[in-house]
Amino acid sequence: MTKISDCPLCRHTSDDVLWQNNQLRVISVTDADYPGLTRVIWNDHVKEMTDLSPKQRTDLMTAVWQVERAQRCHLKPDKINLAQFGNMTPHLHWHVIARWQADSRFPEAIWAPAPARTPEQIAAWQKQSALLTRQVAAYHDALITTLAA
Ligand SMILES: [Zn+2]
Repeated sequence: MTKISDCPLCRHTSDDVLWQNNQLRVISVTDADYPGLTRVIWNDHVKEMTDLSPKQRTDLMTAVWQVERAQRCHLKPDKINLAQFGNMTPHLHWHVIARWQADSRFPEAIWAPAPARTPEQIAAWQKQSALLTRQVAAYHDALITTLAA
């Protein structure tokens, strides 16, 4: 297995791993603004999707689709964002991001500067995100069951 000592995704000692096998791991990211934020990380230090074999690509994307489906079922987002950059950390990983029209950056990417919001909009999102955060445990349970099947 290829590991790079200064790569944070090769070290992954502090990740909150929901499920893993010998190829990939699915981790929970705690972020009050984005309940259910999940990453699917290829275990080997691989830079691009086309560095993987077709079978490996299928295995990786199957996990991504399972995360997306579980988020849709349990968190009822308005949209799912899938992102794979690796510009800062060139180690293959997918962000699976449930989005809501009321969230702090919608319709921008979660990494974009936050658009202007009224105090009422901010309060409404805080209330909605708190409710969603309470559903994250059920989302995780369902996702783990699906991934382990
Ligand atoms: Zn790495």
